[in-house]
Amino acid sequence: MNIEDYKNVWVFIETAQGEVKNVGLELLNQGKKLAEANQEKVIAVVIGKNNDTGVKSAIAYGADGVICVEGDEYQDFSADGYANVMVKLCEKYLPSVILVGATNNGRDLASKVATRLQTGLTADCTDLGVNGDGLIAWTRPALGGNIMATILCAERKPQMGTIRPGVFKKAQPDATRTAEVINEEIKTPTEAIRTKIIEIIKAVGDSGTKIEEAEVIVSGGRGIEKPENFALLKELADVFGGAVGASRVAVDAGWISPLQQVGQTGKTVGPKIYIACGISGAVQHLVGISSSETIIAINTDADAPIFEVADFGVVGDLFEVIPVLIEEFKKIKAS
Ligand code: FAD
Repeated sequence: MNIEDYKNVWVFIETAQGEVKNVGLELLNQGKKLAEANQEKVIAVVIGKNNDTGVKSAIAYGADGVICVEGDEYQDFSADGYANVMVKLCEKYLPSVILVGATNNGRDLASKVATRLQTGLTADCTDLGVNGDGLIAWTRPALGGNIMATILCAERKPQMGTIRPGVFKKAQPDATRTAEVINEEIKTPTEAIRTKIIEIIKAVGDSGTKIEEAEVIVSGGRGIEKPENFALLKELADVFGGAVGASRVAVDAGWISPLQQVGQTGKTVGPKIYIACGISGAVQHLVGISSSETIIAINTDADAPIFEVADFGVVGDLFEVIPVLIEEFKKIKAS
């Protein structure tokens, strides 16, 4: 391997039932910055049965080029089929960096590809930069989330990582952009795909809105005291068409679905407004909310660490404060 031969930043554009997942578009935006730092290009890789939407979105959101592989066998995601495609493309084009969303499918894919290419993979990154030698600096929580470790992959290429949805923001789309699209024909024999999707059951959390996609999230922690009290948070979230989230304590207590957990072992979110109710602000929780535009905290303890990161704070009992907020926000909306 001559690592000097490897060029460009690739971003895997994940799709599901024809829809493009946000995380690939978020990574295009950050991938472009990393590529530009090394005078390289950001290239989107789209795999599927009909890739029109994926290709158009990738270009609109900033890809300098797209590699597209279509085939009946790629209609649904399979780690075997998609990894076969990615490995063959990598062997032909020698990318320097591959960014993959840390979704269930993305994690499955990236680990297979990294193993086959005998390269390193930094999983679940929460930040990406470029160091003085042009290497990607992959940052992720380590040692139980108590420190953030920055990892380099200096001796192998491509440098690979999975990045959580919501860590980076998408660019503003520009439908007038153009970019070169390379169509590659790569077949995967049916018998080489060992998994088959039989049925798709849509998973929705208690709030009905996915927290990864919500613009407003109202989250509850131990201070919520019991599962029924999440109804109060839902009432506040509903005023904004938002979603209900939770700390791990609330999830572990069985008060709310694990799909709603925010934090290191939950989801990373980047809403416009994050309202933390009865949440102390442990580092493992904060790592999941750092991309939020505005953080509002409601807590009885004025010394709770959540107030150190909050843009607005209310020291008070959430059961008294939230009903007032609901009433006031409803009045503002009505006027
Ligand atoms: P607490 O820390 O007990 O805080 C409850 C807060 O509620 C207190 O500040 C209290 O003052 C306040 N309160 C009580 N009653 C009221 C009231 N009536 N009105 C207003 N405020 C009130 N945690 C996560 O959240 N997400 C994760 O992904 C995650 N991953 C982890 C991974 C590892 C490896 C480890 C070790 C831990 C992880 N944790 C995670 C757990 C984390 O360390 C904390 O234990 C947890 O976040 C605390 O949850 P909490 O804030 O709800 O509870």
